[in-house]
Amino acid sequence: MKYISTRGQAPALEFDDVLLAGLASDGGLYVPESWPQFSAEEIASFKDLSYAETALRIIHPFVGETISEADLKAIIDGAYCAFDAPDVVPLKQLGDGEYLMEMFHGPTLAFKDVAMQFLGRVFDHVLNRRGERVTIVGATSGDTGAAAIEACRDRDAIDIFVLYPDGRVSDLQRRQMTTVDAANAHTIAIRGTFDDCQDLLKGMFNDTAFRNRFHLSAVNSINWARIVAQIVYYFRAAVQLGAPDTKVSFAVPTGNFGNVFSGYAAHRMGLPIEKLIVGSNSNDILYRFFLGGEMEISQVRPTLSPSMDIQVSSNFERLLFELYDRDGAAVAASLNEFRASGKFRVEADHIAKAREIFVGERFDDTGTKAMIKIVHDETGVVIDPHTAIGVAAARARRGEIAGPIVALATAHPGKFPDAITAAIGSEQGPPQALADLSQRREQFEVLENDSAVVQAHIAAVIEGAGK
Ligand SMILES: *Cc1c(COP(=O)(O)O)cnc(C)c1O
Repeated sequence: MKYISTRGQAPALEFDDVLLAGLASDGGLYVPESWPQFSAEEIASFKDLSYAETALRIIHPFVGETISEADLKAIIDGAYCAFDAPDVVPLKQLGDGEYLMEMFHGPTLAFKDVAMQFLGRVFDHVLNRRGERVTIVGATSGDTGAAAIEACRDRDAIDIFVLYPDGRVSDLQRRQMTTVDAANAHTIAIRGTFDDCQDLLKGMFNDTAFRNRFHLSAVNSINWARIVAQIVYYFRAAVQLGAPDTKVSFAVPTGNFGNVFSGYAAHRMGLPIEKLIVGSNSNDILYRFFLGGEMEISQVRPTLSPSMDIQVSSNFERLLFELYDRDGAAVAASLNEFRASGKFRVEADHIAKAREIFVGERFDDTGTKAMIKIVHDETGVVIDPHTAIGVAAARARRGEIAGPIVALATAHPGKFPDAITAAIGSEQGPPQALADLSQRREQFEVLENDSAVVQAHIAAVIEGAGK
């Protein structure tokens, strides 16, 4: 299996090179040269498989010859035994034809773990085989940092540094990062904003000498291996609800478009999906796109669902490439226009094609809190603010969809106690897995927002460890 860039100007690469490269050299994102296909009989046969067995069947064609099947199996088994639910992403029925897929049973209690636990192990495997090491650097305003640290901790071939804005992440989010006791995992509080952290990161990648000396790499949401790992649970849930004979729909709380794009990939691989419902908060650029075919950026607004406070969804480029019949030059032209003017429009037939499978919905914080309360009143189940947008989106489209709808429950409600209290009035204790976080020792460095200081710190840590 080869991968090509969405902008058409980068060399085609194998899975392992795409994994380590992240972004393509022309600034595009890698996608498979063709979509692996699963027949109705093969899909039906997934019914009797465990989550890890299903994952092996789905992921294997994407990896091709770059990792042996036995090694891939060991990676997958390791990734998914780290979840505290035997089914990894269990389905829970909420109402008639309405289901939650609980994606928060991993170590950091959010859906990022499902892909990150796989990604960290795959990275380590490929690096060890090549006799290489990398330094993963990331900036976080919340959940991704913890998921990345948990995925990379104690892996021989990886050092990981996560930058976060000092005093601007929640106590719980900070402790999830700073209490990890692993020699290769480092958190740095920057005296600045999240944007400052991202600028420091950009500076490191643009500093070729620094980048090459420490083999910088990233595990951000455009990494193809994350998409691959997320395709699995769409097949899994659909088969449990009667696929391939039944068409299932999914309602996905969306930020960077990685999760819902994985659903689209499953659809392209032969999974019968009726609709993919893209749920947005007040940052509703995708909602407006699916309505009228225009992408137009506006200011990022902070909401109760912070992991979706995004205006430019990086994985959207992969959908655009498909809507444009894989014309990389056209993708590059639209994205250049978007960068220059803050907007671009697609042709009527492109948006019509998108709307065959995608629909958008949006809810503000009032709608989010209302849905948390409604679901709690009706069923006793407490959902987090991101999940609430998924459920609200599912219900908004119930009337026009025949088959079952699965709303993706992307975070554990205990991670957002303030929003839950505002919605249902009662205090939620922290989830079991986080209950003792406040007792654990925190380790982090506080540094000025100064690239020379931060880079010198990273160099000292790595070289001090004798690597
Ligand atoms: C990251 C995240 C999302 C958004 O997922 P994308 O793949 O970026 O669209 C939604 N909910 C939660 C809790 C998340 O952490």
